[in-house]
Amino acid sequence: MYREEVQLVSSTFAHSIVHAFETFVQYWEELCANIRDGSLSSRITDPSIRSAMSKIIHPDPVKADLIYNRCSNLSNWYRLIPALFPNAKYILGIMTGSMLPYLKKLRHYAGELPLMSADYGASEGWIGANVNPKLPPELATFAVLPDIGYFEFIPLNKSIEEQEQDDESDFLRIEPKPVGLTEVKVGEEYEIIVTNFAGLYRYRLGDVVKVTGFHNSTPELQFICRRNLLLTVNIDKNTEKDLQLSVEAAQRLLADEKLELVDFTSHADLVSEPGHYVIFWEINGEASEEVLNECCNCLDQSFVDAGYVSSRKVKAIGPLELRVLKRGTFQKILDHYVSMGAAVSQFKTPRCVGAKNSQVLQILCSNVDRKCFSTAFG
Ligand code: AMP
Repeated sequence: MYREEVQLVSSTFAHSIVHAFETFVQYWEELCANIRDGSLSSRITDPSIRSAMSKIIHPDPVKADLIYNRCSNLSNWYRLIPALFPNAKYILGIMTGSMLPYLKKLRHYAGELPLMSADYGASEGWIGANVNPKLPPELATFAVLPDIGYFEFIPLNKSIEEQEQDDESDFLRIEPKPVGLTEVKVGEEYEIIVTNFAGLYRYRLGDVVKVTGFHNSTPELQFICRRNLLLTVNIDKNTEKDLQLSVEAAQRLLADEKLELVDFTSHADLVSEPGHYVIFWEINGEASEEVLNECCNCLDQSFVDAGYVSSRKVKAIGPLELRVLKRGTFQKILDHYVSMGAAVSQFKTPRCVGAKNSQVLQILCSNVDRKCFSTAFG
């Protein structure tokens, strides 16, 4: 209704922006009909939504036809956002970390509109500002706001020996000592500890960041991943970042076939003997058996962690399993989290579903369409 007035398109996380436009793509004809008639479809029953919309919607056949024609002329919904909102200047949201996989789709909808990666923060407090907003999200860094809290950094690259030399008296300490804001080194990775004015004391945020430089005297951080270990069966250790790299490699094989990966997650299956990794994919389109097998082998080979590769070779970890999900499965997972009280705008797809998360595992396992096993290690 206010399409000319929209100056920017934004949500906390990039996932919600993509989700909103995917929903639009599903229901656009109905929305045009609603604008034409000036009334909401009867299936919208929520009284607060009906009442809010009744204040802004009125019959506007000219606008409805214009939107209808614009959408009909798009090729595979490329440039949907500027077609709908001609005066939008940019797209804003968190696009780093676990949001990176949604960038391709977001760029498709955005066309030439710039993507601006929003700041780095958490419910526990704001951490850093994106002071170079014109850089593409893949290169975004965040300058730590030095007086918004007290920040410490656990070095992640230090070897145990270096650590022992640092602190020989403390045999029980298995992790390096945290360093202060001014002691971090460029090129090193750290986990952040926050102490804030609200009273959180030395809280481990669980995020891994890399120092890329300094903005004046405050460090600039690149977000790497969540620290918690994702996939492990044996002596292997693969993080969110490792999973992302492996999925990106295999996704290229899908793209060659003009197929699109909608979303993904993983699970370490420890029930079967030997245990193995399970990767769940939701794909837009029909992948052939051959392509799926190639993707499955590629996923397996792209986990380069020495513990994984050696365990695979001696068959202490079984062949990686790729399970293709029915369309709409990740929507069901989102609905599940929302029904438990999560906000859609805060939603981050869990990249690894553990056995304890039985409800989500159940949704995944009961929506498998096809599956295949890797033959990569013979
Ligand atoms: P929440 O506690 O739900 O507010 O989420 C905070 C978490 O979201 C952080 O600890 C990060 O893991 C993630 N996050 C927040 N901002 C960013 C960002 N700019 N880039 C990547 N991840 C982020």
